[in-house]
Amino acid sequence: MEQIRENILRIREEMALAAEKAGRDPKEILRFAATKMNDSARVRAAVEAGVDVCGENRVQELVQKSLENAYAPAPVHFIGHLQTNKVNKVVGKVDLIQSVDRLELLEALQKTAQKMEITQDILLEVNIGGEESKSGFAPQDVMDMVARMEAYPALRLRGLMTIPPVATFSGENRRFFAEMHRLSVDIRAKKYDNVSMDYLSMGMSDDFADAIMEGSTMIRVGTRIFGARTYTK
Ligand SMILES: *Cc1c(COP(=O)(O)O)cnc(C)c1O
Repeated sequence: MEQIRENILRIREEMALAAEKAGRDPKEILRFAATKMNDSARVRAAVEAGVDVCGENRVQELVQKSLENAYAPAPVHFIGHLQTNKVNKVVGKVDLIQSVDRLELLEALQKTAQKMEITQDILLEVNIGGEESKSGFAPQDVMDMVARMEAYPALRLRGLMTIPPVATFSGENRRFFAEMHRLSVDIRAKKYDNVSMDYLSMGMSDDFADAIMEGSTMIRVGTRIFGARTYTK
């Protein structure tokens, strides 16, 4: 647990350094802990050490750790691929769904949120590297999607999220982060009704400094906080 604290302190320092280089206020960048495969005790340690947000990418873990009250007082987001038949376990249970990656999911979220009579905050996930293996809207389709958000009045679009390709050298993804930033600036300029660009969620353990240099407002960190995950299940 002490290690988790130390890791978060170090990340905070690196964030401040990157922000300073970019002439930004570090306070405008949220520290998000990707808590997958870590139990409630470890999640709590991270929240106590000062992460701003937690996030899960599996519905099962979200449900389990919510029951165990792992996240409070930190807000919790969903960041994984969401099957439409599990939408009702996530809508209204998380503060933000970051990984809205396809039209079919938008429709399902709208239907569920409307039925529950709530407004669900979402981000659109952008497949910025155009990778076959990743979900998300193609960059050239995002503008059209955003223009159609008025068809989803139970949803409120709060920004964009991306997972860039795995980099082979440091700095390789900066151009993708820059492209994401341009997209969000273009969208904000349109001033659509249920659309704001409060969040630009990008940057993970290996590249959060680059993402901050290019305008990220939320870095999502797992490994650098909790250590390497061992996928045995
Ligand atoms: C796991 C995960 C992260 C964190 O990845 P690390 O490389 O461990 O920092 C960020 N975003 C998403 C969507 C994830 O699933």
